[in-house]
Amino acid sequence: MDQKVSAPRAGSAPLIDPFQRAISYLRVSVTDRCDFRCVYCMSENMTFLPKAQLLTLEELDTMCSTFIGMGVEKLRITGGEPLVRKGIMTFFDAMTRHLDSGALRELTLTTNGSQLEKFAPDLAAAGVRRINVSLDTLDDTKFAQITRWGRLPQVIRGIDAAQKAGLRVKINVVALKGFNEDELFSLTQWCATRDMDLTFIEVMPMGDIGNEDRLDQYWPLRDLRARLAERFTLTDLAERSGGPARYVRLEETGQKIGFITPLTHNFCESCNRVRLTCTGELYMCLGQEDMADLRAPLRANPGDTAALEEAIRAAIRLKPKGHDFDYSRQVVDGKMSRHMSHTGG
Ligand code: SAM
Ligand code: SF4
Repeated sequence: MDQKVSAPRAGSAPLIDPFQRAISYLRVSVTDRCDFRCVYCMSENMTFLPKAQLLTLEELDTMCSTFIGMGVEKLRITGGEPLVRKGIMTFFDAMTRHLDSGALRELTLTTNGSQLEKFAPDLAAAGVRRINVSLDTLDDTKFAQITRWGRLPQVIRGIDAAQKAGLRVKINVVALKGFNEDELFSLTQWCATRDMDLTFIEVMPMGDIGNEDRLDQYWPLRDLRARLAERFTLTDLAERSGGPARYVRLEETGQKIGFITPLTHNFCESCNRVRLTCTGELYMCLGQEDMADLRAPLRANPGDTAALEEAIRAAIRLKPKGHDFDYSRQVVDGKMSRHMSHTGG
């Protein structure tokens, strides 16, 4: 497929779901593979999808460009580890045209940082301005333990390279009981020293992860926030990203701290996003099984996106009101069978 979708089609109406939420944010998982095996995300022996099932880079371009033509203004590339997808810079470079035209306001990614040393300058050149890097600990041994295959110095070098290339880096930390509780202040200070914002994420019940127990891992952010408030002055910020994050400013450091609390908070009423998997399934909600296959209409009509657009509109009409995650009864309710690396975190 060499025909490039470039601009909004004339008369293309914005994507509005049944609850009057405008869909302006698409998260795209470009691969289910990863060079790490974080214990809360994957089991050690993951079976990955056969390559033929993945969208090609050209198909990813057509998908994203079609969504942009329908009003998506923010694109987050994720995975698996997006930077291990072969040829992924070709895709980033291709998306630059939408930044140049003004149709896309932000092109960004979430990464484990392992490949950043290599790719940071290219990402900056493609128009990426901000990235999220996942980092749960600053201790070499604990890092190897939580990621199984990752090595901390490589990720630190990646963060150095990203900052050097002018990318604004935000660190994502999954809050894990008994694992990084003791690093709350050191992680916060380390980020402050490097002028990086920080977001804490509650562990979510996504996919079978072998012998790990979700309730053992769960550290409610309500508790984390209270501990932070013992040492810092927290000012609530009105800022909303349309997602599950709530933000505060730490007055002493000036940092913005995010809390992603799908389990203790309901964030669904302002949800502006949908998620595309690497096989072309569109998930209208991270916490529900409903999805639409967009790969079939795409592959059935090479060079013509009308059927794809109709499939997208039909899917958005089915976007549910919200998710059903609930740990409050000390059992994992609303558990999802698919992994975060499949849907894209
Ligand atoms: N590999 C990249 C990374 O780690 O940043 C991108 C994909 S990863 C699935 C995206 C985010 O999801 C990461 O910040 C990761 O820590 C988080 N994540 C993975 N599994 C999770 C889970 N079960 N609960 C909460 N967050 C999770
Ligand atoms: Fe890989 Fe990211 Fe999942 Fe860790 S959280 S295993 S880095 S996809």
